[in-house]
Amino acid sequence: MKVYFIGAGPGDPELLTLKGKNIIARADIVIYAGSLVNPRILSFAQSGVPAFNSAEMDLQEVTRIYKREKDRAGTIARLHTGDPSLYGAIQEQIDFCRREGIAVEVIPGVSSFFAAAAALRQEFTLPGISQSLVLTRMAGRTPVPDSEDIEGWAKHRSSMAIFLSAGSMETLVQRLLAGYAEETPAAVVYRASWPDQKIVIGTLENIARKTAAAGITRQALVLVGDVLRSLNEDDFYEKSKLYDPSFSHGYREGRDG
Ligand code: SAH
Repeated sequence: MKVYFIGAGPGDPELLTLKGKNIIARADIVIYAGSLVNPRILSFAQSGVPAFNSAEMDLQEVTRIYKREKDRAGTIARLHTGDPSLYGAIQEQIDFCRREGIAVEVIPGVSSFFAAAAALRQEFTLPGISQSLVLTRMAGRTPVPDSEDIEGWAKHRSSMAIFLSAGSMETLVQRLLAGYAEETPAAVVYRASWPDQKIVIGTLENIARKTAAAGITRQALVLVGDVLRSLNEDDFYEKSKLYDPSFSHGYREGRDG
């Protein structure tokens, strides 16, 4: 038995990798995180294959399945939303499998922060504005180390994507204002790539109010940073060197001037 931890992507079933889809198609058991994995992805499995919703199970109930199947031939497809390496709680499952001698492979997925940028037709890295993206969250029941508090990241004024925090927008914005200016653009993308996707655009001054007015409290990413100025304007960042006519690189000789 081999367990595949598969990134199911942000929602749209076509954003699943071909590799993930092929493994699901030959899986003997599917275990999926029911809250944000699109049930349409389950239809890629053969009919009659048992499918367990891990949202209704604890870690032990999941690992019990791995252990029970351990000595049989076959495949377990374990589906996680977005990419499994972010807030996916896969490490404890991988550690369990390692201890039990169960083979494991991880198949990456399209994370929701990519889907949110795509929904906004937005680049996170604009020359002269920001060349870094911070992926973080506020503490919930899961703590965040003090060295990674929002105020600290905000001081960098880089692009930032904040997971698992749309339910506390007022607090989040207060903390972001420790580093960013009030007029810094911000966006909230709810259920990126799903048919009921919603986008809220504003600034740190009004984004909490607008998000509340849209009724969004969960399943949303908060994006902040001056790169988002491109939602309203252009010509505020430097054009890329990569496509600059005078810039030479490994694949192209630059023209003079
Ligand atoms: N591994 C996932 C993140 C899981 S944590 C990934 O790579 O995207 C769950 C959080 O991810 C949600 O609270 C929300 O902040 C974000 N999220 C997941 N799917 C989303 C989607 N389709 N649209 C917006 N945010 C999403």
